[in-house]
Amino acid sequence: MTDRIQAPNRELRSLNAEEVESTLAEWGHKSYRVTQLLGWLYKKRASSIDEMSDLPQELREQLAGSFLLKPLELVKEQRSRDGTVKFLWRLADGELIESVLIPASVGREGNRSDRHTICVSSQVGCAYGCKFCASGLMGYKRNLDASEIVDQVLAVERWHLASGGELAKPQGGLVNNIVMMGMGEPLANYDNLIRALEIFNSSWGLNIGARKITVSTSGLAPQIRRLAEMPQQYHLAISLHGATDDVRDKIMPINRKYPLEELISACEAYQQAKGRMIWVEYILIDDVNTGPEQVEALSGLAKRLQCKVNLIPYNPVDGIELKRPSDETVGRFRDALHRKGVRVTVRIEKGTDIDAACGQLRLKSEKKTAVTQVVGQAG
Ligand code: SF4
Repeated sequence: MTDRIQAPNRELRSLNAEEVESTLAEWGHKSYRVTQLLGWLYKKRASSIDEMSDLPQELREQLAGSFLLKPLELVKEQRSRDGTVKFLWRLADGELIESVLIPASVGREGNRSDRHTICVSSQVGCAYGCKFCASGLMGYKRNLDASEIVDQVLAVERWHLASGGELAKPQGGLVNNIVMMGMGEPLANYDNLIRALEIFNSSWGLNIGARKITVSTSGLAPQIRRLAEMPQQYHLAISLHGATDDVRDKIMPINRKYPLEELISACEAYQQAKGRMIWVEYILIDDVNTGPEQVEALSGLAKRLQCKVNLIPYNPVDGIELKRPSDETVGRFRDALHRKGVRVTVRIEKGTDIDAACGQLRLKSEKKTAVTQVVGQAG
């Protein structure tokens, strides 16, 4: 029987510093090689092991024999009139994911001029099936590993360089604000998420401050409590979208598992542990969650959490019947909250001309592929 040579299947960028250190020590290399290798991965943003010219040939061969370094492949980019850019990436196994770059010029009011934000995906599809969401419509395929989460940021930087680099670059990398708000429920991919956040945040990694990293969740209460136990001051945003259990049950199935009281008390635990304000995101959907009883309940929750509420008028998705409320309804909802003393802002979704709500680009691309396949079979 012949011995099979195992092809490497672990991404080099899914290792943390301790694992890089122990791997190199096991292979008998000096400890300064660890700093060199991490420098190639995260400071020089290497796309291949061959580029790492000051590493000895033997080490490069060992790395190539044991690990992959396969950057995400750009399938499509869409540029919005407001400057937002949406990307569709292909992973090594052919699956598609999305990221969105929101340059400083189109960021939230009050952004510093050098703050570029990237909205990062954590899963291929999503299992949680929120009724308004394009990612939920596709169902769940798999978790992303840490390298696939991290490489979305590096891939946007590569794209920026290749496309002429017109954005002002802050110190370090191009992207200095990360929101885990793309496809998937980040806290459902907890271990890979934590590892990716470590790479974003560490001085040996991308060195992005924890306060510039936001984890957005649909409400996985036990994982919020786990995150609260971590020392890092990651920012937490809750996708609430309903202020009573009956409304939330209708549009977010996760609420049946972790009803509002459980979610809100996990948020309180997070706040107590971090001493930081939580953001509540609330997508306004016509005739679903815009009634006065929601104003009443939402203001109660907001006061309890002392949080800021971000209202987002729904951006309609092909294949989903839900509608965006009129500007008048949005204004009325905002003013009613305001009168009750809630700090509230209305965020107009960026890139509405380019399918910017997460999952839409992939959804369209997969539908197109499916149509092509059907036509191909028919032909
Ligand atoms: S809103 Fe978030 S949790 Fe809900 S289906 Fe979409 S990606 Fe999943």
